[in-house]
Amino acid sequence: MQLKDKVAIVTGASKGIGKAIALLLASQGAKIVVNFATEKMLAEEVVKKIGHNQALAFAAHVEKPDEVASMIRETLKHWGRIDILINNAGIINDKFLMVMTDDEWQKVIDVNLTGVFNCCRAVAKQMVAQKSGKIVNISSTAAVRGLLGQANYAASKAGLEGLTKAFAKEMSHYNIYINSIAPGFIESDRVAELREDIKRDYLRLIPMERFGLPEEVAQVALFLVTEAASYIQGQTIMVDGGITV
Ligand code: NDP
Repeated sequence: MQLKDKVAIVTGASKGIGKAIALLLASQGAKIVVNFATEKMLAEEVVKKIGHNQALAFAAHVEKPDEVASMIRETLKHWGRIDILINNAGIINDKFLMVMTDDEWQKVIDVNLTGVFNCCRAVAKQMVAQKSGKIVNISSTAAVRGLLGQANYAASKAGLEGLTKAFAKEMSHYNIYINSIAPGFIESDRVAELREDIKRDYLRLIPMERFGLPEEVAQVALFLVTEAASYIQGQTIMVDGGITV
């Protein structure tokens, strides 16, 4: 039990990578706030899987600072501390830049980048008071590769990685760690929805010739929030089957 008595908030934990991270951290003893935006039933299922004494579901749109503040208050009311924040919530809305609307640009930036800023700022005070904390931001290989139709998404994830580095410098003094994970193609709803021929094209780009599993990203998140990662700060770890090599 590497995370006994630790309290973790995992944003976007109703499914996919966030769910896998929530379940893995819980299996190591952490109490989990299963954040979601709209899928209450899915989030409740994750809570049920973990156990009602060890998890609670909380609806908050990460791009809305007042909703994030409520989530932090509720976490502290329940468990009195916050040791881990996993900024996983993220969306895509692909369109070629030439025809991308203001809304399509802004919404992705709001959720994927401003959402991370909101959550980091909201937990920082508590973590500074505790003189400890671990934050893991879920980026994407799109931050360094870019992908057709993903100017908004790639910019949001590149911004997230810049935020990670700056915040790591600000917080090191307080024993607070901030790192990022950049997954490649991971088998979640997003990849499942791709056309078969597009899947085959993507697979040809991946040296390991397969998509990753949410659990394989979760293992790296677990590593980053344990003592095993005690000298890793401000970094981005690629979990991509070699696609960026
Ligand atoms: P999913 O689409 O499967 O799940 C997204 C999660 O984020 C859901 O729990 C959803 O909640 C939540 N969410 C969406 N919008 C908001 C919001 N405004 N506020 C709070 N929560 C929100 O995503 P994945 O598991 O595929 O991806 C998770 C993260 O990993 C994302 O940041 C993504 O960019 C990144 N990533 C994913 C890759 C992949 O191949 N899957 C590759 C690289 C990076 P609800 O269900 O309630 O809407």
